Amino acid sequence: MSNVNTSTKAKASSPQWELDSIFPGGSASPEFRKFCDAIRGDPEKLATSVKVLPAVLNDSSRAPWITAILEFQRLGAHIEMARSFAHCLTSQNVKDDAGHALEGEVDNYIASWLNLRTGFEASFAGHSDVEWEKLTADGQVAEIKFPLDEMRRMAKHKMAPQLEALAQELAVNGYHGWSRLYDKISGEIAVEFAESGTVETMSVGQLSNKFQHPDRDIRRRAFAAFENIWAQEASVCASVLNAQAGFRLALYRNRGWKSALVEPLMLNRSQQETLDAMWSAVKSVIPDLKRYTDAKKKLMGTDKFCWYDQFAPVGHLDLEFTYDQAADFIVKHLGSFSDEMAKFSRMAIDKRWIEAEDRAGKADGAYCTGLNLKGESRVFMTYSNDYSSMSTLAHELGHAYHQWVLKDTPQLATEYPMGLAETASIFNELRVGSAALQEVSDRQGKLMLIDQELQGTLILFCNIYTRYLFDRRFYEERAGGIVGKNRLDEMMLAAQKEAFGEILDPKEGYHPLFWASKLHFFITDVPFYNFPYTMGFLFAGGVYERAEQEGKGFAKKYRSLLEDTGKMTTEQVAKKHLGVDLTKDEFWRLAVQRATARIDEFVQLVNK
Ligand SMILES: [Zn+2]
Repeated sequence: MSNVNTSTKAKASSPQWELDSIFPGGSASPEFRKFCDAIRGDPEKLATSVKVLPAVLNDSSRAPWITAILEFQRLGAHIEMARSFAHCLTSQNVKDDAGHALEGEVDNYIASWLNLRTGFEASFAGHSDVEWEKLTADGQVAEIKFPLDEMRRMAKHKMAPQLEALAQELAVNGYHGWSRLYDKISGEIAVEFAESGTVETMSVGQLSNKFQHPDRDIRRRAFAAFENIWAQEASVCASVLNAQAGFRLALYRNRGWKSALVEPLMLNRSQQETLDAMWSAVKSVIPDLKRYTDAKKKLMGTDKFCWYDQFAPVGHLDLEFTYDQAADFIVKHLGSFSDEMAKFSRMAIDKRWIEAEDRAGKADGAYCTGLNLKGESRVFMTYSNDYSSMSTLAHELGHAYHQWVLKDTPQLATEYPMGLAETASIFNELRVGSAALQEVSDRQGKLMLIDQELQGTLILFCNIYTRYLFDRRFYEERAGGIVGKNRLDEMMLAAQKEAFGEILDPKEGYHPLFWASKLHFFITDVPFYNFPYTMGFLFAGGVYERAEQEGKGFAKKYRSLLEDTGKMTTEQVAKKHLGVDLTKDEFWRLAVQRATARIDEFVQLVNK
């Protein structure tokens, strides 16, 4: 079966990852079975021992409380390890039934651990301030003081523990059930789409991939089919959205929370002032982004910029990146900034921590997961020999480096908020992006690279701002009763008009059904899953600029910034390591200027 073609292909093929050194034998691994068995009874054991702890904290009860906290943390670390490994199994082979069963088993451990957490939160809140300070000053837990304080504060924002436990249990088939229903609706959509003479039946995900097609007519037709299919589902989607928002609002009301933003801000460890300062800076550059989309219209040969043009590819890059070339490129360019980052990336690649092979049966997407107990991590992606794959590899290696930096940090202090989670990944992406731009001299290549960058900015500024505005207003209105589907369309249209300014064509440019077609509005695990993207991107850009100014001297500071991401609020990390105040406009103004700095160059290239 060998011929010239397959052998060249074989040469360029990308490696699979190595999992056997973690637990040998995949989903049939006896070692992994043993590991999970050892976890199984632990949550209950710990719950029982916590029940008999003296409720009052004092000199004699402090030690047993610390032991219980450390056991809670140890258990969390073991469950996290099991979760990561099981997820590796099901993503490398989506048909691995035994892997899926293991994943389901670990989900139960996670639920028990979260229940334990709620119990701990409530008992922490019951301790006096003086005794609490003494406890958290103890050397065994001093490093996790921040997450412990946060747990204690959390209880003060919640209902009584038995009510919280009831709410969590009801949420499984109520609240989260709505989100599963949405997944089912969108998963079952099958659309017929004609392209170059053949009609294909495709999923809604495949159809939306057509928005990235270079042919504008195909994008336009795909979008028409997309709107059409979502119009048919809109009525049931409106019920789903109203029901899950109603659940959320009822819970918030019972916790005494005044705004729907309390929870997302807590999860992001940031303040409303920070968010307001960020959006006001974003708004100020939207007219500049219109210069970019106007230039892009010229390239596309149209006088209208529509929703489906946001992802349109322009230009062409001749550079090809095989997996090995990408690895070399990334290591080389990270090395110009930090020897440790370069060395680490080389090690991760050589030790085969990366699943990159392009083959059937793998899950979609890319991620990095930590195998904390081994001090290792694994990157999952499907590598396809182009610039975008190289950039994804760099991105995920950034996450892996972040985990590496945290490998000796106690588990509870490694949980960083979403706004900081993308710091290292976007840092790497920016590094290889600007390196690639320096190596390319032809017009088409430059157009492609700069467009990729500005396209990302357009999405993070206008598209994500749309989602934020919609979410805010929808929650305000939903508090007064059900919001009908026509009203949802209206509100979405208004949000798009505000967030995109004059960018989208007034007649054909908008997507009023975005509230139905976008999965993120229906995710129940993370409310307001929108602004953390923009915040993370702008924050990482600020860090990257600092690195460019200070060169290799910044590498050490960068490392300690990453080390602190699970130990303080977003504002505190920025203050301590960058000396900036995130609640003020200045940092964000500079950040948005940086993100739009190449617009002039793009416009000039288009007019050349
Ligand atoms: Zn990421």
